[in-house]
Amino acid sequence: MDFNQSHSVKLNDGHFMPVLGFGTYASDDVPKSKVGEATKIAIDVGFRHIDAAYFYQNEEEVGKAIREKIADGTVKREDIFYTTKLWTTFFRPELVQQGLERSLKKLQLDYVDLFIIHVPFAMKPGEELLPKDANGQIILETVDICDIWEAMEKCKDAGLTKSIGVSNFNHKLLELILNKQGLKYKPVCNQVECHVYLNQSKLLTFCKSKDIVLVAYSALGSQRICGTWLKENSPILLDDPVLGEIARKYNRTPAQVALRYQLQRGIVVLAKSFKKERIKENFQVFDFQLTPEDMKTIDSLNRDFRYTEPAHFKDHPNYPFHEEY
Ligand code: NDP
Repeated sequence: MDFNQSHSVKLNDGHFMPVLGFGTYASDDVPKSKVGEATKIAIDVGFRHIDAAYFYQNEEEVGKAIREKIADGTVKREDIFYTTKLWTTFFRPELVQQGLERSLKKLQLDYVDLFIIHVPFAMKPGEELLPKDANGQIILETVDICDIWEAMEKCKDAGLTKSIGVSNFNHKLLELILNKQGLKYKPVCNQVECHVYLNQSKLLTFCKSKDIVLVAYSALGSQRICGTWLKENSPILLDDPVLGEIARKYNRTPAQVALRYQLQRGIVVLAKSFKKERIKENFQVFDFQLTPEDMKTIDSLNRDFRYTEPAHFKDHPNYPFHEEY
């Protein structure tokens, strides 16, 4: 990946994506005002790529923060790269555009830069984010991904989004889209869990061969939110002694090394923090370089460990994580 001066990568549709993004997901117990404050700090310290989603239920606050930073002259709209995601309850061809329009309305913006399919399966449409049956089971549906992709293409043609992509796809699901009859636009990216314990080397090679950017989420080891989709007894990534040793050598932090590692692999990386000092710290990753030996050492930490494995969806035909990559 060639970084240009603004630390961006050219997507397969000609648009540019900043290689370091600010994550905005937080669990329900975090006051929504926090995400707005954090987004403004992120823009102030230099983040230009903001990763969000309808599912996060905080696009009003994120949108307000962006608009305030435009109003005070810190940035122009075109300086910001904003991503939102199609939630599964809009996973019907006739609901896709509505899903995006809901986000735009909350954001009070005219367009987003990137609209991606959040996960490759459908849930029963409706206002509930996780619709459940009388037994408390999430109601899943099967809808053809290629039909959804056509509706995503229409959103791009309508000017509601500059680019379109996917998230949580394995290579077979990506191939379904790439081999679709009459494909108009390829996905520009695949946003997936990716960090030193799950380095996604095979999926990365596949994506690179198709000119699809891999975007890494949970690059710092995820938020470890208990009672959700996090695996129990999961390791604390930023406490890894090898990462710590390398960080000391460069006079950096484990978080900075974990982010820099992904950038040097040609991956676009997201980092979430709502703490000012950490947000600043996470942006300081462009002024040092890991040696090839250190890159190899970090490669060896891989153990194909997934923090987020949504067990409720395991029986769905499009469940993406049964495949090796
Ligand atoms: P990260 O892996 O980026 O961060 C995990 C935690 O690390 C944060 O909660 C943060 O806590 C802490 N942290 C951040 N910076 C530092 C630092 N410098 N030193 C020590 N600790 C630090 O979290 P996410 O799993 O949220 O992933 C990032 C983003 O990716 C999300 O916010 C979301 O935008 C996206 N995402 C997308 C998914 C998808 O399905 N497409 C799924 C999951 C995430 P604190 O705030 O207290 O600093």
